[in-house]
Amino acid sequence: MASSIVLFGPPGAGKGTQAGNIVAITGKPQVSTGDMLRAALVEGTALGLEAKGYMEAGQLVPDDVIIGLIEERLTQSDASDGVLFDGFPRTIAQAEALAEIADVSVVIAIEVPDGRIVDRICGRYTCNSCDAVYHDTFNPTQTPEICDHCGHTKMKRRADDNEETVRTRLAAYHEQTAPLADWYRHRDLFVAVDGDQDIDMVSASISAVL
Ligand code: ADP
Ligand code: AMP
Repeated sequence: MASSIVLFGPPGAGKGTQAGNIVAITGKPQVSTGDMLRAALVEGTALGLEAKGYMEAGQLVPDDVIIGLIEERLTQSDASDGVLFDGFPRTIAQAEALAEIADVSVVIAIEVPDGRIVDRICGRYTCNSCDAVYHDTFNPTQTPEICDHCGHTKMKRRADDNEETVRTRLAAYHEQTAPLADWYRHRDLFVAVDGDQDIDMVSASISAVL
């Protein structure tokens, strides 16, 4: 079975920011459950409607919904050589389900202290066309309102990127997702990188792991 990579860490750790570099190095497509759910929300599908309330509240979407989504995604042809999971798995049940359907070669955990997370998330914006990730202070576009990657001129902010929801998302991370670190450590798959450094330094640390 072709092997996949898991990008792990709290909300705002920099998973989406680092994913492009990992995709470039490995050729594996990024599979972000958050992006898939947001796309379903925009399209107004049954999945989107089911996920909406959980996402707006900063709570995890139920495991059966997420596992079904991943099972379907992995049947697509571009996933045949493995993928880069971003934001999945987020519970032990999701990790157990993943172990049944895919081979994970490494879990790269981007570690960032809680104290940094609110500032990171509340300043986040993305290109409305290519979803490139920016930050008001830490990583702004070179020219205001013009995407460095695709030149598009419309940016967007996520509805759940507000301080109140971030605190709920962080609590969900500590209660439901952080225990996965030991789950993967016991399987010798867990590698931590310091995410509390410049974006380029984090990329270099991840490249060294790969
Ligand atoms: P995640 O996908 O883990 O939720 P993102 O990649 O979207 O996180 O990053 C969250 C925010 O933090 C974005 O606005 C991004 O520009 C910014 N960011 C990412 N990595 C760093 C870093 N190393 N230092 C400062 N800000 C960062
Ligand atoms: P993210 O884009 O990874 O920050 O995810 C945004 C929101 O989507 C989360 O706060 C959850 O509500 C939901 N979500 C994304 N991935 C998962 C997952 N693997 N399990 C449960 N909920 C998820």
